[in-house]
Amino acid sequence: MLDLKSMDLPEMEAWLKQQGESAFRAKQIFQWLHRGARSFDEMTNLSKALRDKLSGLCYITVPQVERKQVSAQDGTIKYLWRLKDGNCIETVLMRYHHGNTVCISSQVGCAMGCAFCASTLAGKVRNLTPSEMLDQVLFTQLDSGLPISNIVLMGIGEPLDNFDTVLRFLTLVNSPDGMNIGMRHISLSTCGLTEKIDKLAALRLQLTLSVSLHAPDDETRSAIMPSNRAVGVERLFACCRRYFEQTGRRISYEYILIDGVNDHDWQADLLAKHLKGTGGHVNLIPMNPVAESPYQPSRRVNAFRKRLEAQGITATVRRKLGSDIDASCGQLRRKQMLADGKTTKSPAEKRDLP
Ligand code: SAH
Repeated sequence: MLDLKSMDLPEMEAWLKQQGESAFRAKQIFQWLHRGARSFDEMTNLSKALRDKLSGLCYITVPQVERKQVSAQDGTIKYLWRLKDGNCIETVLMRYHHGNTVCISSQVGCAMGCAFCASTLAGKVRNLTPSEMLDQVLFTQLDSGLPISNIVLMGIGEPLDNFDTVLRFLTLVNSPDGMNIGMRHISLSTCGLTEKIDKLAALRLQLTLSVSLHAPDDETRSAIMPSNRAVGVERLFACCRRYFEQTGRRISYEYILIDGVNDHDWQADLLAKHLKGTGGHVNLIPMNPVAESPYQPSRRVNAFRKRLEAQGITATVRRKLGSDIDASCGQLRRKQMLADGKTTKSPAEKRDLP
């Protein structure tokens, strides 16, 4: 069976021609799928014969709402979706002044192993498909009734570890015949896979790249982010400079402040030194405690911000949304996995912690 929603318009046209159908039907089908049609029978401007043929050859992904939590504090909505194969992923809808923003997942689980993150505790199960990524935007909009204008790829998974799918998703969600969300309204967050960042830079997309930095020195970064061991901060910063030169787009650096680990003055100074002249912006994130992790939120958030700013680096502190509903990605899926009996409790004690 074919996942038609993962195809872009030219591919759908080519496929229909191959099937002996007229190519112009592709646009109609594409529009139905991107409006959230759940079956081919809904596509009333297609003949019954074509609808039956499509039903026999293709399937339409429709995620089920396994859980939905609405924050009483700020209206943030968190969805736990159950996918076709039984796996669960999360999507968060945040209501900012500049528009409704969805934070979507790119993988079921994550292979990156960051020590402070709930998404990676049980490893990576599989990549999402382009349609499963699109569905998160589409069905969040349909279920909530709130028009979505911005997307951040900051949910479960490492988007650059699912590179081709993510690119295809961007094409789909950007399509004028689909949700038509502009690249400048999309942010992609990565733990810093340099080869993939270079590949992305070559495409010169207008999206915003966020790099999850979390430490400016190799000792700390490698201890909390295993992916750093093969790369190192010097190579990562050099790669970020190349990205800026090639695309003209400033990078945003995410930095979760963890008590006693990465919140020292010398680390702020080293960070400032690396970012000077790059136009890079630092987004300081108050850490959400994860039950299985020994790390605690830093008490020096403002001091760290001021120290960066005193050295000419712009830094903002991320507003906490949805902290009453486990809205730090990975946490809800983690709870559901424990409930489904899919995983044992904490591998945290097996990790190398600084
Ligand atoms: N793999 C990508 C995208 C997913 S993580 C990346 O690493 O950027 C999205 C963001 O959430 C990252 O900046 C990540 O470091 C952050 N994050 C993970 N666990 C967190 C926690 N416990 N508290 C606050 N932010 C967290």
